[in-house]
Amino acid sequence: MTDVVGERGNRVHLGNVVGAAVGVDVGHQEMTVAVRRIGSEEIERDWDSVGAQKPRAVWTKRAKEMIKDLTAQLDLTPDDVVSIGLGLPVAIYPATATITQVVATSEWDLVGRPADWFADEFPDVPVIPDNDANLAAYGEYLHGAGRGAHSMIYVKASSGIGAGHVAGDGVIKRGRHGLAGELGHLTVDRNGSICRCGSKGCLETVAAGPRLLDQVREAYKPYDTKPPADLDDLINRALNDDVVCCRVLKGAAQNIGFALTLACNIVNPALVVLGGTLGKAADLMIPPLAAAMREYGLAGMFTHDNPVRIVGSELGDLAGARGAMALGLLTEPPVRSSRT
Ligand SMILES: [Zn+2]
Repeated sequence: MTDVVGERGNRVHLGNVVGAAVGVDVGHQEMTVAVRRIGSEEIERDWDSVGAQKPRAVWTKRAKEMIKDLTAQLDLTPDDVVSIGLGLPVAIYPATATITQVVATSEWDLVGRPADWFADEFPDVPVIPDNDANLAAYGEYLHGAGRGAHSMIYVKASSGIGAGHVAGDGVIKRGRHGLAGELGHLTVDRNGSICRCGSKGCLETVAAGPRLLDQVREAYKPYDTKPPADLDDLINRALNDDVVCCRVLKGAAQNIGFALTLACNIVNPALVVLGGTLGKAADLMIPPLAAAMREYGLAGMFTHDNPVRIVGSELGDLAGARGAMALGLLTEPPVRSSRT
């Protein structure tokens, strides 16, 4: 019998459970699903290019198909699924597991109780929703770059920019409304552009994936140079020494580093992990990111015998699904709380 205490303090017993733990990580334009046979490290995973930008009926249908395929690959059936952890690019109100705010845009089809969205195909299976960056932080903390770290901030920098904070006691810090860690909506330029969240000069207005593609397009415009098709293409060109793409990523790293300074001066983590699509360019981005943090941050976090460490993601696009699997197993199903 395995006896563990979950991150919200709930004691659960896993030893007699035969089944599958599911993690679903939904981004703006992509989705990763992973299934683990409980009691082993045997994991099957899959990826699809549908995400929250599509109608909810589309991506939830695809997620359910992927869960069934992956459980079959583990010689299990859908009836063996015991929990589904669900990462969404939104803020989740912790008390009731409902959506507080879709920060990136109001146009997405994300309303209601995420815990109900899988009930047609997986009745009686608890669905535990959380912010996607929170879950990626938790995945890295348990299984990746954050193993053994006192505390950490994980940055998910892709189409949007979010962050998750795991504090020194292993607790994900969500805040009252689930809005903690919205790094992409810290104002880095008070005279900057209006952001889709309604604020001004947010980090996302200068460092989110679509803005970086805009910057490369602008630089190429006077020349007969084909711009990158997407953020992965931009990163691959930078890794192959395209000077424009390198400079754009350097600027993004400096801006993300500046925003991280604001967060680190407040919560003072032991570790910063750069993940999301930009995590693939960690070797290029971390030196300028760290330089910005040194320039604007409190010196003690760098001069102490145990200075803050700044590293790239180890788990890549599996981080969120691994965190979702872990949280799904360790957390009681959300209840409709009267104390809101
Ligand atoms: Zn914003």
